[in-house]
Amino acid sequence: MREQTTYYMELLTKGLGRYNRSTKCHIAIVGAGMAGLVAAWLLQRAGLQVRLYEASQRVGGRVRTLREGFSSGLYAEAGAMRIPAPHKLTLHLCKTFGLQLTEFIQDNSKALIYINGERGRRSDYLKGKSNFGRPYSSNKTAEDIVEKVLNPLARFYKDKDRRIQLDKISWGEYLHAFVHGSRNPITEGNIPKDLKLTHGDIDLIGFVFGAAEFRASLLEAVRDHMVMGLGTKYQILGGMDLLPRSFITSTSANQTNLVDSVRYHARVTQVNRVRPGKEYLVSSEHTLTKLPLPDETADHVILAAPFSALTHVRFGHNVLPPERLHVIRNLHYENATKIVLEFSRRFWEKDQQIYGGRSITDLPIRWTYYPSIGQNPVNSDRGLLLASYTWGDDSLRWGSLNESDRIRFALRDVAELHNMKQDECEKLLVGGMSHSWAEDEYTFGAFALFEPYQEKELFENVWKCHDRIHFAGEHTSLKHAWIEGAVESGVRAAREVFKEASA
Ligand SMILES: Cc1cc2nc3c(=O)[nH]c(=O)nc-3n(C[C@H](O)[C@H](O)[C@H](O)COP(=O)(O)OP(=O)(O)OC[C@H]3O[C@@H](n4cnc5c(N)ncnc54)[C@H](O)[C@@H]3O)c2cc1C
Repeated sequence: MREQTTYYMELLTKGLGRYNRSTKCHIAIVGAGMAGLVAAWLLQRAGLQVRLYEASQRVGGRVRTLREGFSSGLYAEAGAMRIPAPHKLTLHLCKTFGLQLTEFIQDNSKALIYINGERGRRSDYLKGKSNFGRPYSSNKTAEDIVEKVLNPLARFYKDKDRRIQLDKISWGEYLHAFVHGSRNPITEGNIPKDLKLTHGDIDLIGFVFGAAEFRASLLEAVRDHMVMGLGTKYQILGGMDLLPRSFITSTSANQTNLVDSVRYHARVTQVNRVRPGKEYLVSSEHTLTKLPLPDETADHVILAAPFSALTHVRFGHNVLPPERLHVIRNLHYENATKIVLEFSRRFWEKDQQIYGGRSITDLPIRWTYYPSIGQNPVNSDRGLLLASYTWGDDSLRWGSLNESDRIRFALRDVAELHNMKQDECEKLLVGGMSHSWAEDEYTFGAFALFEPYQEKELFENVWKCHDRIHFAGEHTSLKHAWIEGAVESGVRAAREVFKEASA
């Protein structure tokens, strides 16, 4: 994994090489998220003709900074909000474009844990001093349990044969085996025999790490907990969307930008073959007028939109084999919802000394994130609170509400979490916004997550190219739900296309 990252970093720095053939080569890229942008940027630098179709009016896809709807200068992240230190390709791009990073505080000892009506500081909880009453075991933390049950599996990850064992059951099933004392061949000889969990312990793990992951394969859970999300986390000062926007606006990085290469409001509706063995014909429509845009031919196509979105694209006869269409239909996507509230006073800092990090609760809001240093306005008490961040079923329960009820109910939970009277909290409320990714008309979900057997049975058909049709996007990598996966896939797809075009 390390060597591949080093090689990809080199390609980002030095480029793919130079396309020297006399015939022009046209590349159509569907989706101007991070994967599509990276692929387009590399291919254009190499001298190929690139056309990026983007259904929305902006680049970045799930890297989306909300700037409207709050007092001026304040912004919040609807999608990606942090970059872990091991995500070398993403950090490398930030450096290339001269973006300023600050630390994203993931956890803070002063933040609150509020479960079953019992409130405490994270520092006490971590020392095992919290007692949430029945059905929760006293003195246990979700972090300790996860370390005990997942740590021994981390080394399986490096062994291909044993790794595949982890693909066969879900993270939730694995945990439940410790409740029922069932014999689990994966744990034999690896986990202390007397380790017993309760349903309360599993609920606590869900509150802290996200219950949506219980559906994911154990392999996906091991990768995420032990390999991917580790280390210090960073955020881009001024908003995460500065990264995708840099591909359009940058005038310095390697003298190329994509300002004239993106077609906005252009939703690809069909990909057909002109004639067998010949170019592809890409059909699109304007997302505002709904009128068809002129069809265009392409020698290579990179599909860099999520599979959840590709289900609405028609592929002509023999463009994609049935197993590809099966994968597009079946890859599992999770949802996520964020609700952001603006307050005239940052009561969490002034009254409760919480600067950054997140509080965790069994209330429907689940995770509340406080702004890290650098995100607050200078010389003002105002501030934005990511009042609720939820995944999976928890997030769908917010998705069913209209915007004003999301804000109203989230405010009620925020007041209770912080032990404030609701009207006291209401008086400080300036406004709010929310985004449910399952309702996003261009994404249809938040991120891909393998359910059991999906990695073994589907993965090869998720990423491998087929007759000059290439696949990119976080879902085509093993770094689901991270920008890093999208960037990595963009580099891979660009390299595949460049090799084919230059052959
Ligand atoms: C709530 C949330 C939180 C996250 N948090 C983090 C985080 O903290 N750190 C991190 O690194 N990552 C995070 N991620 C993941 C990260 O945002 C994604 O992995 C990454 O942005 C995906 O990039 P992509 O290019 O694969 O896809 P996308 O960003 O989804 O881009 C695909 C593009 O295709 C367009 N499109 C779709 N259909 C069509 C069509 N038919 N025609 C034309 N265009 C089309 C879409 O409009 C979109 O712009 C988060 C994601 C979410 C949803």
